[in-house]
Amino acid sequence: MAIGMSARYPFWEPILKIRYWLHTLNAIGGCLMNQQHVNLAGIGAGPFNLSVAALLQKCRNTRYAFFDKKPEFSWHSGLMLPGAKLQTSWMKDLVTPVDPTSPYSFLKFLVEKRRFYSFINAEQSSISRQEFAQYLDWVAQQLPAVRYNAHVREVNYQQGRFWLRFDDRIVSADHLCVGTGTQPYVPEFAVPYLGKQVLHAGGILNAKRDFTGLKVAVIGGGQTGAEIFQELISERWGECESIAWVSRRENFDQLDEAPFTNDLFTPSYVKHFLALPQEEKQAIVARQKLASDGISPATLKEIYQSLYHTQVVCERGRNIMMLPDRQLVSMLKQGGGYELMLMHSGKAKERIDADVVIFSTGFRTVIPSCLEPLAEQIQWESDGVLSMDDNYQVNWECQDQSRIYAVNASRHHHGIVDPQTSLMAWRAANIVNDLLGYELYKLEQPGFVQWGVLPATAKERFVA
Ligand SMILES: Cc1cc2nc3c(=O)[nH]c(=O)nc-3n(C[C@H](O)[C@H](O)[C@H](O)COP(=O)(O)OP(=O)(O)OC[C@H]3O[C@@H](n4cnc5c(N)ncnc54)[C@H](O)[C@@H]3O)c2cc1C
Repeated sequence: MAIGMSARYPFWEPILKIRYWLHTLNAIGGCLMNQQHVNLAGIGAGPFNLSVAALLQKCRNTRYAFFDKKPEFSWHSGLMLPGAKLQTSWMKDLVTPVDPTSPYSFLKFLVEKRRFYSFINAEQSSISRQEFAQYLDWVAQQLPAVRYNAHVREVNYQQGRFWLRFDDRIVSADHLCVGTGTQPYVPEFAVPYLGKQVLHAGGILNAKRDFTGLKVAVIGGGQTGAEIFQELISERWGECESIAWVSRRENFDQLDEAPFTNDLFTPSYVKHFLALPQEEKQAIVARQKLASDGISPATLKEIYQSLYHTQVVCERGRNIMMLPDRQLVSMLKQGGGYELMLMHSGKAKERIDADVVIFSTGFRTVIPSCLEPLAEQIQWESDGVLSMDDNYQVNWECQDQSRIYAVNASRHHHGIVDPQTSLMAWRAANIVNDLLGYELYKLEQPGFVQWGVLPATAKERFVA
């Protein structure tokens, strides 16, 4: 490519070289001027690292900074659909479960924004994601140690410290907390087609959304797929020629919100899960899928009632197909659209056509490329995920001296709760306590269920 460029623009090349060196000198100068040292550097300032930052505000002797590449705080803004609800209680905010007197609680936000009484009177069983995003943004703006427009490009380890390289400076840190979140996932065969007609739901609000007269297929039977399908059948994005909703699951299953299922999202269950043999954990997490990945009952009801109204009451006979128990196994460009091959029940092949394909196939944890220089010193599990310890530390070569904490990267070790907000404050408090070396936050919270082996005291009381 460089050869091609110099052949086509022979006079530009020296100018480009001078510009490159000027830029480099500028960056080196900037680095020297802006060098800074902290005890803890956070990479990423999404909700999970924000929780760590908010809880650290209590300890005056620790120097810390959290860096995010975005220009300002935002929370999945490309998917902030109008009716989208938080699937977790608002009380499980950034701080309340471990420090209800913190100035960064959701209740404090309500009072500051003068909406406390209206909020109570609205009697919402679940709040909108939009309001939770407003709360998160409000906290982010108050934390001086959270910096946006700060892309961590590379992390090196030298002289017993981490060195974080940004575009305009270098920061050194004793310890790291990696909170870079997840990335949209689509099957590999669909990647070459990504564009205006084939998109991931995560960016749907940034895309042109007039689907009038088009055949649209939604792939994925979780909450996001349901919300996209709901928007399409409501015709807020135009009157489609046809809508197909494909789900790998045997039915359009609802989120399991039963009290004892919710107990899987408690410190006492995590304690039990941590003690299980590593080889059993993956299967257990898979069995618990509907505890976190099902569709909210309210969304399902709205969809069913909307279909009843348009198809039965109004007899519109719209081309709407709901296709459970089908896996999209391949796709091909065909004319202006796409031919989608589905495997039904693992046996029969079926074909549907679509002009627009919206993948609602979730998000996956990706280890950020800035950690590449440390890759050989880090311990990895056989399936390429980070090897974690119980205190959210990544196991790595110089762990005794310099710790790397990671949030949202330990479902294989801590269980189903890891990518959820349910225990974010509890996890953040664990990290803060571990970092400080003493118990700033009290974390022991016994539950009703005896998940693990009966303790000796119970045997005395229950065994004759
Ligand atoms: C649409 C949607 C709705 C959800 N709703 C719920 C819900 O209702 N209840 C629930 O419990 N969970 C929910 N979740 C799951 C989870 O709570 C969220 O994904 C949450 O945002 C995870 O927080 P995070 O901090 O790990 O990651 P993110 O929010 O993704 O934040 C990571 C941050 O890291 C930054 N970053 C990445 N790389 C770098 C770098 N090299 N340098 C600097 N910054 C970097 C990014 O800019 C980003 O701001 C939802 C997830 C999605 C996708």
